[in-house]
Amino acid sequence: MKRSEFLQNTAAVIGASLLPSFSFAGENEKTGTVRFAYLTDTHVKPGIIPETGMAKAFHHAQSLKPKVDFIINGGDSIMDSLEADKQKTQTQWDLFHSILKKENSLPIYHCIGNHDVWGWFIKNDKPEADKLYGKLWVVETLEMPKRYYSFTKDKWHFIVLDSTQLNPAGGYIAYIDPEQLSWLQSELAQTPKDKFICIVSHIPILSICAGLFFDKTETNGDLKIQRNLMHTDFLSLKKIFLNYPNIKVCLSGHIHLQDEINYLGVKYYCNGAVCGNWWSGAFQEFAPAYAVIELYDDGTCSRKMIDYGQ
Ligand SMILES: [Zn+2]
Repeated sequence: MKRSEFLQNTAAVIGASLLPSFSFAGENEKTGTVRFAYLTDTHVKPGIIPETGMAKAFHHAQSLKPKVDFIINGGDSIMDSLEADKQKTQTQWDLFHSILKKENSLPIYHCIGNHDVWGWFIKNDKPEADKLYGKLWVVETLEMPKRYYSFTKDKWHFIVLDSTQLNPAGGYIAYIDPEQLSWLQSELAQTPKDKFICIVSHIPILSICAGLFFDKTETNGDLKIQRNLMHTDFLSLKKIFLNYPNIKVCLSGHIHLQDEINYLGVKYYCNGAVCGNWWSGAFQEFAPAYAVIELYDDGTCSRKMIDYGQ
């Protein structure tokens, strides 16, 4: 073999080996799969590590073999705008858009994370009169139809929720506000019975890792789940869900840890974080990662977590 041929072949092999590739167990037996990447908690901010990390994660998701059909962004796209002034918030959104433009050509569906909400925690001169205050900025910049919305892919109906509600006494609480709840009820009632339902929320509706976030118990041994780490309305949502056996999957992020729970016929997946420990490596045992989800025509599903090598 000539040296130039050797170099060409070597380059081809190296190129091929760099392409991320995996397959799900039994995927050949399933037909009509809806297949997508779920990237949550990117928390991009100016800096070489967050910028190259976000680019790497989205590039990785684009290059999967077999390809994914679309991407869901699970929220907390930027590091934080709850406390940031207008200029800092704009800088973070500009960065998010410029990296996404370069690294993503797939359709993308966005969900609002708590850190994407503007101005709630600004202490002095809270910009309440600004039209972008609160959730309007994120809805507008990500061109979302509304802060909560739905879409359909083949046999699956997706319902994207807005988990984060302001606590007037300070902080935020995870629940579905009354206006959104009545929309959710009618959305569920109107979804044809032969469609399966996948619900997306930034904060988990049900999660055990929500109780493990602080990596400790209370002094008396109780494991506490804070009201900003899991939906406080889980028990009422559970009762609603029982009326709709076609609800099969709930996807979330927020905790930066990963779990999967099979509870009363619904699979609840908490899907780690693209930024891991806010761009300083793994958070507890979980490296920076994103999920690939497959939803099958029979209502079953698979999730695989991908360590994209940040
Ligand atoms: Zn969050």
